Amino acid sequence: MSSVTQLMSLITAASMMVSGTLNAAAPQHDIDGPLFLANRQYTVSEAYAPADLEMSDVSGQVRRLRPAAAKALREMFDACKEETGVKLISISGYRSYETQEGIYARKLRSVKKNEAKAQEFVAPPGASEHQLGVAMDIGQKHKVNLEISFGKTEGAKWARENCWRFGFILRYDEPWEEITGYKYEPWHFRYVGKKYAKEIHKANVPLETWLISHRVEMLRELLSVDLSIPEEIPAEEPATPSDMAASPTDLKAAGSK
Ligand SMILES: [Zn+2]
Repeated sequence: MSSVTQLMSLITAASMMVSGTLNAAAPQHDIDGPLFLANRQYTVSEAYAPADLEMSDVSGQVRRLRPAAAKALREMFDACKEETGVKLISISGYRSYETQEGIYARKLRSVKKNEAKAQEFVAPPGASEHQLGVAMDIGQKHKVNLEISFGKTEGAKWARENCWRFGFILRYDEPWEEITGYKYEPWHFRYVGKKYAKEIHKANVPLETWLISHRVEMLRELLSVDLSIPEEIPAEEPATPSDMAASPTDLKAAGSK
């Protein structure tokens, strides 16, 4: 291997380490990770579409999600049926940037181009978690129109209390409107995986807020250096002749050969 090639592979390895570290420290920027944040502030590029979408095996429509989310949704719906007798249904899973663009344009026309009004419920293209393939809007019988009243149903109550067991979080709760930028949506669940869903549910804060503390924790771990001073500092031993700087005179005096 030439030294240039060696240098290049070293640089590649180093930059991979750096980007891995950055992803760990800022998980909200890792689009392949479970904590990628998509909202009005952090938008998804027009070019992004998950490569591994699949149809979730549940009743309802627009059932495409990324595989882990699709499987978890099935488990959640099954558990709800078993524990409450209520059959949840999917209403809207994966949506492409273009689909979101169309929905937003229609909403905008219906409110006479008032953007603030349009954005109360509809995310502009790129600002929707549905483009990530990890969000699902749910409903139940007679509640399929994404209405606030869904929140009062047994199915919705069960879902908000139990979704974390399957790796989902309720993304837009009522007290969080200022932080998430979205009105209360009792139907919108986001998959983050069981480990994080449990932590976020326990913290009872929106993903935006939780990510800040999670990031601080990750940075602390990444930067952790053991700076503690040993409890017992060994007593200094008296200097021996060998410790002393030997000057030519000393060497002569010692009769060194
Ligand atoms: Zn939604």
